[in-house]
Amino acid sequence: MTALVTTAPRSMQLQQRPETETEPGPGQLRIRPRFAGICGTDLHIFQGHHPNAKMPLVQGHEFIAVVEAVGPQVEGGFKPGDRIVVEPLVSCLRCEACRRGFAHVCRRLQVLGVHRDGAFGSAMLVDAAKAIAVPDGLSDRIAALTEPFAVALHDCRRAGLLPAERALVIGGGPIGLAIGIVAAFCGARVRVCEPRPARLALARSLGLEVIDAADDPAAQCDRITGGEGFDVVFEVSGAPGGVELAAKSARARGRVCQVGLFAAPAPTDHNAVVFKELSWIGSRVYSFDDFRDTVDLLERIAADARFDPALLITDTCTLEQVPRAIGRMIDGEVDGKVMVELGAG
Ligand SMILES: [Zn+2]
Ligand SMILES: [Zn+2]
Repeated sequence: MTALVTTAPRSMQLQQRPETETEPGPGQLRIRPRFAGICGTDLHIFQGHHPNAKMPLVQGHEFIAVVEAVGPQVEGGFKPGDRIVVEPLVSCLRCEACRRGFAHVCRRLQVLGVHRDGAFGSAMLVDAAKAIAVPDGLSDRIAALTEPFAVALHDCRRAGLLPAERALVIGGGPIGLAIGIVAAFCGARVRVCEPRPARLALARSLGLEVIDAADDPAAQCDRITGGEGFDVVFEVSGAPGGVELAAKSARARGRVCQVGLFAAPAPTDHNAVVFKELSWIGSRVYSFDDFRDTVDLLERIAADARFDPALLITDTCTLEQVPRAIGRMIDGEVDGKVMVELGAG
C-alpha cells in the first residue's frame, strides 16, 4: 500500500508500506481510510515542532475509513465494507490518570498519526475496540469531522455548558467553530471572537454570531452581555490576548475552558480569577464516550437545517497535495478544515 510518510521535518514522501497489508491480528481491523482531516497538530509535526512525534511517521488522526478485513476475537459485529471512525488515542492503562479512569490524559498518551502511524495512506491496522460504526445518515465528509467535533463536545462537557447560557469562543479556527456549532446546537447563545475577516465570514455562514477581535472585543463583550459577562468562555486561541480577554469577559463565577495550547507561557490575570471566582478549566482531547456520542451528535446536527458542518471543510486535496496544503495552512491561507481525499493505492 501507499502511505505519505513524514521522513524528517518539512519532508514528506509517498512510500510503499507492505506491513499494513498483513492479515489483522486478534481484536484488529484492517481498514482503508477514505477521508482524513489535516489539523494544527499536523502542522507542528510537519515543522518538527511537536515535542514527541517520532519520524518516519504516517500522519493523519481525523478520519473515516472502510473495514477491509476483520481479525479474530473482534467484538462489535464489524464486517468488510462497514464505514467506521476510530478514536485515535492509545493509553498505557497503568499510570495514575488511566487508573482513575481518565485514559485521555494518560501520562504516556499516544495518538495515531502523531506518535504512531495514522491515516495518510491506503490501509492501516487498528484496534477494533476503538472503532465506531458510522450511521447511513452521516456522509463520509462530515463523519471525517468526528475527531474535531469530539474535542468540541468534550470542551462543552468540561465547561458544564447549559442551554440558554451565554458562551464566548475566542478563536475561530476549525476547533473554535466546531465548539460554536456544538454549543449553539445545545441551545447556548454563542459568539465567536476572531480577527481574520475570512474566518468571521465562515463563522457567519455556519450560522454563528461573531465578534470582530480587531475592533475592541472587550467593549463588544461588555455591550453584548449588558456588562455582566459570559457564563462560559472557551479560550481556543492559545494567544496572550485571548487569555486576557477570557479573564475580562467571563462573568462573576463564570467558567473559562482552556482549549488552546500556547507556543510560550502566557500571563494570566489571576486577580480576575480570584475576584470573580472564575473556574479556569483545562480541556484535552476527549474520552471514548465523548467520541462515540459525537457520531450521534453529528448526525443530529447535520439533519438540522440551521447548521451545515460540511461548510467547515473549505479545502479538499489528494495525498500528493498534502505538503502543499500544509504549507498554505502555515501561511494562514486556509480558513477552515482541509480534507484529504484518499483514493485507492
Ligand atoms: Zn486534530
Ligand atoms: Zn496511562
